[in-house]
Amino acid sequence: MGHKITKTKEGLRVPSDPIIPFIIGDGTGPDIWRAASAVIGAAVKKAYGKTREIEWKEIFAGEKAYNKTGEWLPAETEEAFRQYLVGIKGPLTTPVGGGYRSLNVALRQKLNLYVCLRPVKYYEGVPSPVKKPQLIDAVVFRENTEDVYAGLEVEEGSNEALKLRHFLSENFGWDIRKDSGIGIKPISRTASERLVRAAIQYAVKYNRKSVTFVHKGNIQKFTEGAFRQWGYELASREFGDKTAAADKTSNKETENKIIIKDAIADIFLQQILTRPAEFDVIATTNLNGDYISDALAAQIGGIGIAPGANINYETGHAIFEATHGTAPKYAGKNVVNPCSLILSGEMMLEYIGWKEAADIVDESLTRTIAQRHVTYDFARLMENANQVSTSEFAGKMINNM
Ligand code: NAP
Repeated sequence: MGHKITKTKEGLRVPSDPIIPFIIGDGTGPDIWRAASAVIGAAVKKAYGKTREIEWKEIFAGEKAYNKTGEWLPAETEEAFRQYLVGIKGPLTTPVGGGYRSLNVALRQKLNLYVCLRPVKYYEGVPSPVKKPQLIDAVVFRENTEDVYAGLEVEEGSNEALKLRHFLSENFGWDIRKDSGIGIKPISRTASERLVRAAIQYAVKYNRKSVTFVHKGNIQKFTEGAFRQWGYELASREFGDKTAAADKTSNKETENKIIIKDAIADIFLQQILTRPAEFDVIATTNLNGDYISDALAAQIGGIGIAPGANINYETGHAIFEATHGTAPKYAGKNVVNPCSLILSGEMMLEYIGWKEAADIVDESLTRTIAQRHVTYDFARLMENANQVSTSEFAGKMINNM
């Protein structure tokens, strides 16, 4: 019988038999879950023999939940993530007219998972649209709870929009065109600071070289600009002995310290193509983070191999997930790429401190792709690839451990 992971002041307390809830997901979810859970289980066994084992606990969301319970996101699912702290999920169909904009967004909000974490690392042999994808090794910390993403929007022509427009005109003298939808962009000190804190703590823990704040503060001074300012202040206040702000004129790196720097989002999107080696940990607001993580993921092979997690480092809650959708046309065909969910599993192992098992997953993935065993999405862009099915890919990985 497994035990719960708990959170203490010192960090996570992980038993040797943690209960980890999982959502299989819709569409191709079952195909990739079967592959990913086999790989994760094999890596744990390889690393620890019989002394450690994950006890998986299935919970439901999306179509499977709806068919079983009539609800897209049953209360027990939320409760399971709350109780067991760490979980993993496959992709979910977004219900049309189901009361949710997105089940993923709903879960992030309910559990206050304020960091969207996306490591972006290149595996040799993966087809990439850039010349030197091996120079990319970045980790994106995207703020997950506010910005124009918070859903504070009113529709063009609605009473609310007209009322808001009238209020802004009367009280601020702001003249907004009558036929406008209006969205609000709150960026708080609280959310900015906890995001930046998590990014710097990560950089310290993993010996990363720099943390870059990506923002549009030149134009949006009191939101994006404030994010940048609060970031620098927090770095010097809480991590003064471990970090140094970059000297922008000379770009001189300070020895043994993590360099804190910033970049304006538009230039940044050029520089990650032209000078990717200059970026390491990236801390950014919600909307920027959305664009940046997809742009970076495209450079290292795209949607099939980009893992992610949503984390609250204060409570310990974390949900690891495939970042792509359900790819319904391939459902049940055992063809899609399971790497996104496998690497999310690797992140999860790392997060719970099972580093040996995480490293086994990473090394085996590196080896399997180098041997050119890949699923259709990579095979169609590679020469001399050995195209394998989803389950065969998992089998090759397990053999390579
Ligand atoms: P999608 O499911 O991500 O699929 C779009 C295309 O991406 C697929 O047709 C396929 O391209 C490629 N792809 C996706 N996953 C792949 C994998 N594992 N291996 C190889 N190729 C993969 O996006 P969508 O069709 O826009 O969305 C379908 C459903 O997923 C919607 O209900 C949407 O709301 C939901 N969704 C869920 C999440 C989530 O749960 N995190 C995220 C996004 C979307 P090719 O056809 O070129 O092979």
